[in-house]
Amino acid sequence: MNYDAHFQCSEGCAESYPLTEIVYRCKKCDGLLEVRHDMGVLKQRSPDDWKCLFEKRYRRTGYPYGSGVWGKKELVCPNIDNENIVSMYEGGTNLFWAERFGAQLGLADLWIKQCGNSHTGSFKDLGMTVLISMVKQIIADGGDIRAVMCASTGDTSAALAAYASAAGIPAIILLPKAKVTREQLIQPIANGALTLSLETDFDGCMEIVQRLAARKDFYLANSINSIRIEGQKTISIEIVQQFDWDVPDWIIIPGGNLGNVSALGLGFLMMLELGIINKLPRIACAQAARANPLYRSYKTGFTEFRAITAQPTQATAIQIGNPVSIHRAIRTLKRFDGIVDQASEEELADAAARADRTGLFNCPHTGVALAVLLKMVERKQIRPGDRVIVISTANGLKFPDFKGAYHHLDPDKPVPLYYNAPMELAADYEVVTGEIARHLGNFAR
Ligand SMILES: *Cc1c(COP(=O)(O)O)cnc(C)c1O
Repeated sequence: MNYDAHFQCSEGCAESYPLTEIVYRCKKCDGLLEVRHDMGVLKQRSPDDWKCLFEKRYRRTGYPYGSGVWGKKELVCPNIDNENIVSMYEGGTNLFWAERFGAQLGLADLWIKQCGNSHTGSFKDLGMTVLISMVKQIIADGGDIRAVMCASTGDTSAALAAYASAAGIPAIILLPKAKVTREQLIQPIANGALTLSLETDFDGCMEIVQRLAARKDFYLANSINSIRIEGQKTISIEIVQQFDWDVPDWIIIPGGNLGNVSALGLGFLMMLELGIINKLPRIACAQAARANPLYRSYKTGFTEFRAITAQPTQATAIQIGNPVSIHRAIRTLKRFDGIVDQASEEELADAAARADRTGLFNCPHTGVALAVLLKMVERKQIRPGDRVIVISTANGLKFPDFKGAYHHLDPDKPVPLYYNAPMELAADYEVVTGEIARHLGNFAR
């Protein structure tokens, strides 16, 4: 079968370019590009045959198809030779049945998609494997790419640096100074990337990297580059596959630059067109109240959009005021009967900590999504029988200061709702048993 895909203007121009061309926007209208697949060829395989193929490959050993992304290669990026694929076995992440947390909320069918259990600890690996593989393909075809580069709030840079170093391609990373965690900063450093810490915020880094992208020999790895979206969209296919091809009622995802909410939608639309599913879920996009341009636009019925200056938030990966994928995100939300809601700093921290008590270890962005879940349940937008998926976007271990600050008593602030702290005691059996008794009630010593 001759599968094929190309770039197409997403704003309706007739412009189209090969995926191996170094181009990020429509040359006519400057709109973002999207990857279009030859759906006619894809439709020649029946829905059952697609499911069967995906099942056969899922988490198996045949390289690169055991990867959650490359197991869906025909739907992702058929134009790359397998020998140029740079995979670290992305995807295949646990869908955690949040039984206890769900029971507290009266939801029996609540699931957390643990995308942070990945090579670099966030769901950015899903798209980065596709981008770096494409770069390797372009170089193999004789293209002149000297380096890959990105502006980042911490997770894109970690993923880019890891995949680039695995491929032996130099990486240039632009980070807003003091706005990513120590753990995120050390990732590109360890991978040998040129790591530039700039005196600005993410939006400021983005401006500079877009100017650098005028040079064709520096390949831009931000989600403005639609190649990444193709990998990110496998999240939808994988979720449905994990439910034996049933579509959930709601999916809640945190949003910053808004590439991922768009990718989520794309995956479902593609499955619908291929007949793999026959309905769509509803999508809720969750923003930090301190970085909420999409929420503000939603409040106007999406009739207006204004970029803002994002305020500092614990959810640093989504501290973005001028999201690149705003238009495609709005299109997605309209198509999926979507909603947008926001979470304050206190709400996101409490929601993360509350769910942690039921076996999770949430990053602040997942906290934003969980806080929005609580609000949706409260206003009965989500009903007890609904199947709900919360996308957990990064591993909590990348954000220890967020957790540390929560479980650290501040005399100027009220004790957090789910506060817990280690107790320092003398190494004395009686003292230890005394303390345990205080917690668990009396027990035979
Ligand atoms: C990138 C990222 C997001 C948001 O994705 P966008 O596509 O920028 O909206 C959310 N959480 C984490 C941890 C991320 O790294």
